[in-house]
Amino acid sequence: METPTYDLLVIGGGINGAGIARDAAGRGLSVLLVERDDLAAHTSSWSTKLIHGGLRYLEHYEFRLVAEALAEREVLLRAAPHIIEPLLFVLPHEPHLRPKWMIRAGLFLYDRLGGRMTLPKSIATRLDGSRYGAGLKPRFRNGFVYADARVDDARLVVLNAIDARARGAEIRVRTTLEAARREGGMWRARLAARDGGTAEVRARALVNAAGPWVGDVLGQVGTAPIGARVRHVKGSHIVVPRVHAEDHAYILQNADKRIVFVIPYEDRYSLIGTTDVPVDDYAHPAISAEETDYLLALANAYLDRPLAKGDIVWTYSGVRPLYDDGANDPSAVTRDYVLKVDAQLPAGAGTAARGNDGAGRAPVLSVFGGKITTYRKLAEAALVELRPFFPAMKGAWTDTSQLPGGDLPRGDRAAWLGELCRRYPALDPGLLRALAKRHGTHAAAILGDARKPADLGEDFGAQLCEREIEHLVNDEWALAAEDVLWRRTKCGLPMTPAQRQRVAARLGA
Ligand SMILES: Cc1cc2nc3c(=O)[nH]c(=O)nc-3n(C[C@H](O)[C@H](O)[C@H](O)COP(=O)(O)OP(=O)(O)OC[C@H]3O[C@@H](n4cnc5c(N)ncnc54)[C@H](O)[C@@H]3O)c2cc1C
Repeated sequence: METPTYDLLVIGGGINGAGIARDAAGRGLSVLLVERDDLAAHTSSWSTKLIHGGLRYLEHYEFRLVAEALAEREVLLRAAPHIIEPLLFVLPHEPHLRPKWMIRAGLFLYDRLGGRMTLPKSIATRLDGSRYGAGLKPRFRNGFVYADARVDDARLVVLNAIDARARGAEIRVRTTLEAARREGGMWRARLAARDGGTAEVRARALVNAAGPWVGDVLGQVGTAPIGARVRHVKGSHIVVPRVHAEDHAYILQNADKRIVFVIPYEDRYSLIGTTDVPVDDYAHPAISAEETDYLLALANAYLDRPLAKGDIVWTYSGVRPLYDDGANDPSAVTRDYVLKVDAQLPAGAGTAARGNDGAGRAPVLSVFGGKITTYRKLAEAALVELRPFFPAMKGAWTDTSQLPGGDLPRGDRAAWLGELCRRYPALDPGLLRALAKRHGTHAAAILGDARKPADLGEDFGAQLCEREIEHLVNDEWALAAEDVLWRRTKCGLPMTPAQRQRVAARLGA
């Protein structure tokens, strides 16, 4: 059988791999994406889930990154209003940590660096007697309020993969790139599927978007030294019952100059994080006792009702694959992305140096660092790097396009939920809301002709029904219970162990 050939073989189904696959497929390239585990199984579902400029990065003079990320916040709010929404942040003032003038100056820049914004500008405010002080110790009297946005990070990855597939890309989950070598101006790669099958494919270019494993993949493909290293920095979060009933988040300052967010999460909870801990084991990150103590201590310095270890209902940890810029402090290592290409154009193509055999050295592009927030710009930058090898490739297109389900009427979540409630009057509004939040306008396709709750099949609890599971399996590559419970949805969080077990039994895990 002839070995299938693609323009791009993308390694890694995190946000960067999925974003590059989508962009490239939309430009007419043939794309294969392989992900060893599930889509978003690693760093891309363990983030703080913010689409933000990163106020704190201003202190590290990362103006380029902050400006790009702030502008991107607007683009992404338009592209996926079902999974990305504005969120207000309250910064309680602590005069001994940062003076007022410094915070005012930072917020002045933050309001302007990204260009025209639809989100409200920052304000200074009283906290005592105001909803902006909800849950805080009464000693916090003054603060600042600014706007950013939050995202369902794992769903953002899946939506990019769905759109990539709709534009012709092939997505293979539970498929590992084992090795690749250059041959005749192309790559020949060996892939191993979780079920034991192996396959060989050829590709004109490789994209190494393996996140924390970027260095390992470079080893597997045997490139020339590319002069870049990854810094593995773990970040952990704790989830506790909601610490206040208002809609805003807190950004809390610590004496070590770090900040920690307290974010309303999944209706009933608050998400508290994150930490910055350099690690050697980047495959199995888990929260340590020190990190738990650190997060609880900082939260308790601000919250009126102290949190204890027993309040923690869930924790998660992820590893940032940062570009090693030589900074000592893990919090100060750049969050910007760096792309490294190892390649030579073939003889006769442009002016770049040529390989000995005239066939050139097929490119491998490796992704270092980055943010969920900047994934789309990263994808555009990656395709600029690869353009010399695909001169017929179409131009950039993703800045004005919506992600699947994002075409809400007037971009308005409430209006869309109202529409679903009108169309399905006999169904639980809570279920309709959950489906609208996860699937946007595609919720209507999942609900289809359902008229009464029984039409949706088994009710697994926590607003998860059989019909949605069928959709996640058939259209979103879900295979195991955790794909459904902790990534495509977060239903695992409010479920009882018995309910989770029923989902696992349904999926045959
Ligand atoms: C604690 C924490 C908080 C964060 N908070 C935010 C935030 O609030 N906002 C924000 O914008 N950014 C945030 N980030 C940054 C953001 O999460 C990451 O930059 C981003 O998720 C990295 O995505 P990735 O695709 O590069 O890596 P990953 O998501 O890790 O994806 C890489 C994938 O490659 C796969 N892979 C590896 N080797 C192979 C192989 N040989 N074959 C096949 N597949 C392979 C892996 O299985 C993995 O799924 C945060 C990061 C952390 C850790």
